[in-house]
This record gives sequence, C-alpha cells and structure tokens, in this order.
Amino acid sequence: MKIFNTLTRIKEEFKPINKEIVNMYVCGPTVYDLFHLGNARTFIFFDCVRRYLEYNGYSVNYIQNFTDIDDKIINKSIKENRTICEISNKYIEEYYVDSDRLNIKRATQNPRATDCIEDMINLISKLMYSGFAYEIDGDVYFSVREFGSYGKLFGQDINTLKSGSRIKINKNKKDALDFILWKKNKENEPGYDSPWGIGRPGWHTECCSMIYKYFDGDTIDIHGGGIDLVFPHHENEIAQIEVLENKKLANYWMHCSFLNVGNEKMSKSLENFFTIREILNRYTGDVIRFFLLSVHYRNNISFDEEYMESANKSLSRIKKVYFNLINFKECDNVNKNECLDDIRKYHSTFIDKMNDDFNTADAISVIFEFVKYVNKYITNFNSLELSESIKIFDSFFDIFGLTYKEIEEFKEIENDVKEMVKKRMQFKQKKQFDQADIIRDELVKRGYILEDINDGTRIKDINNNLIYIVLV
Ligand SMILES: [Zn+2]
Repeated sequence: MKIFNTLTRIKEEFKPINKEIVNMYVCGPTVYDLFHLGNARTFIFFDCVRRYLEYNGYSVNYIQNFTDIDDKIINKSIKENRTICEISNKYIEEYYVDSDRLNIKRATQNPRATDCIEDMINLISKLMYSGFAYEIDGDVYFSVREFGSYGKLFGQDINTLKSGSRIKINKNKKDALDFILWKKNKENEPGYDSPWGIGRPGWHTECCSMIYKYFDGDTIDIHGGGIDLVFPHHENEIAQIEVLENKKLANYWMHCSFLNVGNEKMSKSLENFFTIREILNRYTGDVIRFFLLSVHYRNNISFDEEYMESANKSLSRIKKVYFNLINFKECDNVNKNECLDDIRKYHSTFIDKMNDDFNTADAISVIFEFVKYVNKYITNFNSLELSESIKIFDSFFDIFGLTYKEIEEFKEIENDVKEMVKKRMQFKQKKQFDQADIIRDELVKRGYILEDINDGTRIKDINNNLIYIVLV
C-alpha cells in the first residue's frame, strides 16, 4: 500500500510502526455550528482510509479531537447568551447525528480540548523551560527560529515563509512567524489558571498535546486533515513536539483537498457553504459518500446539484447489479469457470487502485467496468462466479462505507414481480400468448420492461437498467 506523504512529497510504501495496529490522528471540528460539506469530505475520506486499513487486517486506533474552546465558540456564546459548554455540547451532539447519518465510524476516542488543558499547560511549560517559547504580558509564543526544520511540511524555507506570508504583524512577538501557545484572557472570556496567569491554550497546541497524551508520546503512523491545515497548523504541531523530542510526530502526513463551489473553496468565512444537514435532507448518506469519494482526495472536487444527481443514479445502478447477483442463487449453471479469471482480475484491480494512495476515483471506475461485465455475462455465471462477484461489491461497500439499504428495498418490490414473470414464462411455454401479454402489459404499467433471452427473461427499469433476471 502506498501513501502520498505531504512531508516528503512522494508516494511511500506504508509501513506501520506496529505490524497490527495503526495509530492515526485526524483534526476534528470546532464545535460551534453544524459542519459543512467541505468538512464532510475530510471526515469521510479519512473514514475510508480507516476502513481500508481495517479491511487489510489492521486494528486502527483513531483519535479525532473536538475543539471546544475557541474565539468562534466564545462569540456565539456571548451572542446567544449561553455558556460555552452549552454551545459545544449541543454541536458535539449534532456532529454525531450527522456523522452517524453519513455512516462515519465513531473514532476510538474524541478528546475535547477543555479536557486536556493540563496537558497543554505541561507542553507549553516544557517549551518555556527549554527556551523554545517566551512570555510577553501573559501571552506565550513559540519561537519559530529555534526550530531548524520549520517549514519542512509546507516545503518552504523559513525566510520565504516570512516574506511571503500573510501573517498579521503583532508587535509583541519577536518574529512575525512566532505563533501563540497561550492566550491571556480578555474580559468576559473563560480562562484557566496557568503559570502565565489566566488564559487559554492556542489551537496549534491542542492537537499535538493530544497526540502526545493519547499515543503515549510515541510517533504516530498517520496524521490527517484538510489541506488548509498544512500551514500553519500542522507545521506548528511538528515544531512543538519535534523541537523537544528527538523523534517524528507522525510518519505519514495526509491532506485532503478542497471542496469548491464554483471556483471558490467552500468555507464558513466565504459564506458559500451548505451544512451537511441540508444536503442530508435531500440525499442519503450513501450518495454523499459516493459523490465525495468519486474524486481522488488530493484533487479539488466541485459541488454541483447535477453531480449529486448523477452520483445518485450511478450508485443505484451499482446496487441494482448487486441485487441481481444476490438474487441469482437459483441459477445452476455448471460452466467451467469461464468468467472466474475475469472476475478475480476485477477484484485485484480494484484493490490495486486502493493500494495506490487510496485512489477511490479509479477504484469506482473499476466497479463500473465490472457492473457492465456482470450485466453482460451474469447468465453464464456459475455459483462460484456469483459468489466471487458478490465479494467484489462487498469489498467496495465495506471500504467505501456504503450501506445495503436500497438493495433491501428492491428485494421487497421484486418478489411479486419475479412471480409474475415466472407465470408469464409458463404461459409462453404453453403458447398461451394472450395471457403472457396481459402480464407483460401490467408490468410495463408498473415501470418494468421485460426482455426475453435464450434461457429466461431480463427485467429492466424504464432507463434500461437491468434489475433482475429470471431463468427458465
Ligand atoms: Zn489539529
């Protein structure tokens, strides 16, 4: 399995530190509102990464934080006259509601920033003690110049960063790149006691001190997040830990690209976002997942109603073929495994695509090729070929986190239709064509098109998609 590592800018063979367990951390949401489709892309992609690792037999220790103290939460609490805790509790609950509907597996743990204040104070104290941080009037800053490798994740020299950055000049800081570790609290703001007075930790300290805490100070395998976190957030995480410890914070850094609306990134600040709740009211979690995973995670994806509709259609096409396969058990073709090699080849190609830096886009293309193949050859499949075909779809559903929901619904509709088609075939055998035609007309009215083949009848929908095949 190969992973594109943001740190080295190449695809590297994935070698977890422990052969059985993968330790993984993904930056989570700031809980002051419902999350939007752009956030969902990151959460769903890393859920897919986790599922694929589990598919490969690893047990994944997946930690994702909740940032529950932050300017946005404080502002909302003032505006709505509620406590910060009320705001964050509400949106943590809402996060679970939406992520469950998206079939995102729950993280192993979801630590909250406010539960780790002491750990963050400890980390900042260590940095102060070792001379990598300094305090000015109750604010504590990290001294970027003290960390020689600063800029390695972003891939820029520290001097270029300084001149090219859009960092606000703060005259309290010794250097424009220095970032805040501890913020002195302003009036009406919540605060915590610390050696530097009452205040709260900066966001960049949150994730790395959680990693330190929840993975016992060990290097983790994968650190993930949205691409906008590479700089400064992840660069700053690396600096704080690696300046103190003679080891890496994470071996593989993975970043998911933007979701665009038109030519702009979807974001709260640009006010061009759809909350995932709005989208979930129109499409199932499956369709949203399928849409978001249909583009490689390192490419931008554009949101468009038209694309969602097409994802919806494509997915139901796949589910219909799956339905056909699972309902084809009565088939007792005893051919000589003519299709077996092809089927196994589709499966291994699908896996190859996933092994190539989680190329979900190409993996979906393989599934589509296979859908065509099944539609063409299903009547020749013997039971081994059927079960091998079902396995491909099972792998796909499992890794992509798709449910079998609509397939069950098809099943219920189909049973009675299946019986009618069988009856029609019997009428035809007895040359009672009038009766046979009555059944055909009745089914057409219900939206089913029948197509006679050598050894049975194909049932199609009005869009000519194969739904089922009844054999003689
Ligand atoms: Zn983070």
